[in-house]
Amino acid sequence: MSAEVTAESLAVGRRSVAFPIERIRGRPASLWRYLEALPFAAGSTAWQRITMGEGFTPLVPLDPDTEGRAGGPRVLAKVEYQMPTLSFKDRGAAVMIAKALEAGVTHVVEDSSGNAGSAVAAYAARAGMRCDIYVPHGTPPAKARQIRAYGATVTAVPGGREDCAAAAARAARAPGIHYASHVHDPYFLHGTATYAYEIWEQLDGAPETVVVPLGNGTLLLGALQGFADLRRAGLIERMPRVVAVQAGACAPLARAFAAGADGADPVLDAGTAARGVAVGAPARHRQILAAVRGNAGQIIAVSEAAISAARARLAARGWDVEPTGAVSLAALLEHGALFPRGERVVIPLCGAGLKDPGDDPAGDRPGT
Ligand SMILES: *Cc1c(COP(=O)(O)O)cnc(C)c1O
Repeated sequence: MSAEVTAESLAVGRRSVAFPIERIRGRPASLWRYLEALPFAAGSTAWQRITMGEGFTPLVPLDPDTEGRAGGPRVLAKVEYQMPTLSFKDRGAAVMIAKALEAGVTHVVEDSSGNAGSAVAAYAARAGMRCDIYVPHGTPPAKARQIRAYGATVTAVPGGREDCAAAAARAARAPGIHYASHVHDPYFLHGTATYAYEIWEQLDGAPETVVVPLGNGTLLLGALQGFADLRRAGLIERMPRVVAVQAGACAPLARAFAAGADGADPVLDAGTAARGVAVGAPARHRQILAAVRGNAGQIIAVSEAAISAARARLAARGWDVEPTGAVSLAALLEHGALFPRGERVVIPLCGAGLKDPGDDPAGDRPGT
């Protein structure tokens, strides 16, 4: 087991990238301020054609009045739903679609439970590409509507997310169609790595702990890659501890982690409200387990009750997130002993509440 992320444990490979901080500080507050660390040749303008100013999301104390005094960790929320399409998926989609544009792609397909589909559809629209999104049956109507609003087609596929991925992969075999997959395309992870760069810049260093939701692992792997980049560049001394969180009702990776296994056996979703992390057979399972173990991280599971309580707690602080957006705080509520007093813990608020009402009975019926 290695103590750091290696090329083998991350698909995008080990690399040295530059962070010219004076130049970075002079640039607009978007993820493109880390241009030297992003996979574009000097002089490439593809990204300028698709950017909507995504990234550089706020990082704010969860409870400013009790921050550092309540006997617990100091929790900082990174408000990822303040993105053009209202989830962190914009990070990956913007970079992935800019690379596709550079390569001359004119038609993309993607499969997603909703947020990756929305993000890919939006950036594909800006890039002037045709876009077809495959979603599982039961995707919240608001997410399907959002995808269509960007001009993409939405195809609901019976069965689970794996059936949906198979449908997209099949469609992508046709000539001229590119599979812009947030799960498989390494450029998506280059985009999510900016999550770590921003935290480093906003805190002037790495926090002790980073908590991330875990479904397919695109935020987890990107964040690990990002912190590894910063460490290689000599800008942080140590990797933060990473705690990845699954919903107990669909937790193949938490189970495999606890069992000490190198790979995860597929599971069926027993019905979590956190649909964005309900991935029963994550494609990158081996890579995720190796990357978490190689960095002394952890994978844990949370209950539906904790997710619901965390969502209510966030709303009471002014942040209305979708159920999946509450799993990171649920980990703090349910596994408090993992988070020592005084340490800085960053949690992402990943998706907006309007995207998925969850079990809120009034969610889709205004005025009744
Ligand atoms: C996609 C998503 C997740 C899970 O991310 P993975 O890359 O699948 O691990 C969590 N929360 C929200 C809101 C998402 O859109």
